[in-house]
Amino acid sequence: MARKNAKHRMVLSPQARTELETILGARYVTDDPALLSGYAWNTGVGKIPGGDKFAPIWPIAVVLPATTEEVAAVIKCCKRHGLSFRPHSTGYGSMGCVTSPDSICIDLRRMNHLEILPEDRMAVIGPYATANQLQAEAHKHGLACHVVGAGPSHSPLASATSLIGVGITSQFTSANMRNMLAWEWVTPEGEIIRGGSAASGMGWYASDGPGPGTRGLLRGFFGGGGGIGVFTRIGIKLFPINHKGKMETLGQVPQLRSPLPPNTALLHAIFPSYDAQRSATFDLLQDDVCTVLLRMPPNHVGWTLTESNAEFVRRTRDGTLPEPARPENSANWTILIASRSAAEHRWRHDTVREIVAHHGGRFAEMTTEEEGVLYHNLATSQYVPRVLRASGGITTSFGVLDSFHFLPKAVEMGEMMLAEDTAPGGDLCEGSPDEQWIWPHEGRYMWAENIIHFDATNEASRAAGARALIGHFAAQWKDPVGMTGLLVGPIQDVTGPRIGKAPAFARKVKTYFDKDDRSKTKEYVIPNMPPVVEKILPALRPVLSSAPVLHILSKLVGKNGI
Ligand SMILES: Cc1cc2nc3c(=O)[nH]c(=O)nc-3n(C[C@H](O)[C@H](O)[C@H](O)COP(=O)(O)OP(=O)(O)OC[C@H]3O[C@@H](n4cnc5c(N)ncnc54)[C@H](O)[C@@H]3O)c2cc1C
Repeated sequence: MARKNAKHRMVLSPQARTELETILGARYVTDDPALLSGYAWNTGVGKIPGGDKFAPIWPIAVVLPATTEEVAAVIKCCKRHGLSFRPHSTGYGSMGCVTSPDSICIDLRRMNHLEILPEDRMAVIGPYATANQLQAEAHKHGLACHVVGAGPSHSPLASATSLIGVGITSQFTSANMRNMLAWEWVTPEGEIIRGGSAASGMGWYASDGPGPGTRGLLRGFFGGGGGIGVFTRIGIKLFPINHKGKMETLGQVPQLRSPLPPNTALLHAIFPSYDAQRSATFDLLQDDVCTVLLRMPPNHVGWTLTESNAEFVRRTRDGTLPEPARPENSANWTILIASRSAAEHRWRHDTVREIVAHHGGRFAEMTTEEEGVLYHNLATSQYVPRVLRASGGITTSFGVLDSFHFLPKAVEMGEMMLAEDTAPGGDLCEGSPDEQWIWPHEGRYMWAENIIHFDATNEASRAAGARALIGHFAAQWKDPVGMTGLLVGPIQDVTGPRIGKAPAFARKVKTYFDKDDRSKTKEYVIPNMPPVVEKILPALRPVLSSAPVLHILSKLVGKNGI
């Protein structure tokens, strides 16, 4: 059992500590508050902090296992001592913070296995192999991994097994929920299970092994968010690219840039309207000519192309921002074309130009340096850190995962949610009326998420961030724009029939594998919920989306964080 210390924080009992030290060695178990504080840091990256930037709940201890067997032994120890646990891969952002006062943080940084299998176009990775390392190793073989918008420092294993998985190159690198191959999993009871081809000792190349496929059951679109045990190794897909080896980098931080490899082009298409952009998109996808398509709001392009906030503000006032960063050019696609031969490149290039022109579009003027900066950030997925610097606090909206038919409506909804607060004098970071990032998945459907920039040091701004976040869900309930992608925790239950029986099903999975809710998180489903509550929650939608309730909820979040 955990006990409480003088400040009423739970502490590790001597018996539990001795057992953990026996499993891992004393060096890899700590409850030193100075170290624990590093695992309770909510800076406003991914979540909204309270006034002091610390998460309200700290882990009672942090343990660092090195093997799957050690992870299993730690989980069994937690069970014996009535403790909960939370897996932590790299902890980029605040999503890995523990959510109950009896939780141990299982930090997986010693498990950094990384093996490229080029002939099978895949890698086998552990939780602490970062996207940066995986990408660098893959490039040596003319391959690339999918890097989610979180950028190079996150864990592709955490992304593929447990948390979303969408990223700006999804047109050709798919999304991580679809890139996970065979997997190794320690259940919340401490049992080690392998799935897909790894279950038969055949290697890590296929997700659907003998018997029914279980990948969807374990993660679905959003992922278990640490609420369903610990994943310790996976196979992950890699994708062929048109060059090999180290990416050339020029310039100085923060304005790093990379020259485009041969037979590669970066274009920035601007359309007269979102309707025109939508029709052009259908043609571009039908002809399969673009390697990457990414729509960023113009101010985000501007933050990337300028060295500092001061430069961005000065050039906005002077009217000297490059074309892709100007507000009037918000219906846009940044297009990357990467071909294998000059002939293929000519065909792709001409086709893209023809389609854009056919839909009334044109291409922005850019200098080679600006093009190099955009290419560098696109290829390394560093956009988020570049864009984050504008305000220091960032979270995101509900996400639209649906047909490109919804593109104009998604932007309109994005504006409706943000325009007032991002206008001069508003409580959010001043910016474009909408902040939608949009891209296609596998040449077919659209992902859109409206980024919310707040000042993490200012309560009114944090409250505005919360208002926008909760307001997005409320708006989706009233007037749905396609399928809501980022449904997590209780929001799923309130959303109710629009997502079928997904939460009830996930609850069954959770309860089956983790009846005592030891794998504790707020990012999955509410476990053990009585069916009557399940029925009542959707009825709360009108109450929760009413203006007074939204106001109170956002004030509370602005003060205390989430
Ligand atoms: C600024 C920012 C931008 C982001 N942008 C995107 C984006 O564009 N697309 C996207 O998909 N995601 C995005 N994310 C979320 C991101 O996917 C995750 O942070 C990342 O993929 C997970 O890697 P991590 O090492 O940070 O995981 P952690 O923070 O360590 O963990 C993330 C979650 O997964 C659980 N978890 C971690 N490892 C394991 C494991 N081995 N077994 C079981 N559960 C585990 C944790 O408990 C936690 O719930 C963003 C996050 C931030 C902070």
